[in-house]
Amino acid sequence: MNLVLLGPPASGKGTCSQYLVNKYQFTHISMGDLLRKFAEQSTNMGMMVRETLSKGKILEESVTTKILHNYLIENNLFDNILLDGYPRGLKSVNLMQEFLSIKKVIVLEAEFELIKQRILNRLICPNCNKVFSKLEYSLDKCDVCGATLTTRSDDNIESLTVRMQEYQNLTLPVIEYYQKLGLVYKINAQENYKIQLDKLMGLLK
Ligand SMILES: [Zn+2]
Repeated sequence: MNLVLLGPPASGKGTCSQYLVNKYQFTHISMGDLLRKFAEQSTNMGMMVRETLSKGKILEESVTTKILHNYLIENNLFDNILLDGYPRGLKSVNLMQEFLSIKKVIVLEAEFELIKQRILNRLICPNCNKVFSKLEYSLDKCDVCGATLTTRSDDNIESLTVRMQEYQNLTLPVIEYYQKLGLVYKINAQENYKIQLDKLMGLLK
């Protein structure tokens, strides 16, 4: 059974993924992480991805879907996948249909004000990737590994506006598409996500 997890930036996709992986043994695939890893390869494709990402540009959906497909084949992954932040647009939905069947699409819903507060107060550990909020954590060192905390380069209001626009233009049509197929399960990011995810998993048993 494969699931898709969608939601605006900072809506809690990471936390929800971690919960589903730990409790329900999904294999988590974050497209963002996958592309960053891919960009480190010294192949032609790797170089092309690196160049596009470093310019802050968006990769063609045909390219990202191909990278995803190859990754699944190489790692023999076709079941129990949790696809995080993908498909990004309708084009990747169509391409993906040829090699991956989706059981349910979880959509995280959060108000813009909450997202803004989360992003503008977000700190991350550059060493172990733990995420902190300035609203809850007053130290400047990671409580796991001791590294000095930093902010993500795109955690600012300008970049958030661009990411929200991209989400609205590209990803909302994807959600509408899956909604027509009856596959969408919405989660309110301001309520207890564990209870909501457990309920979904109960329904899918
Ligand atoms: Zn750390």
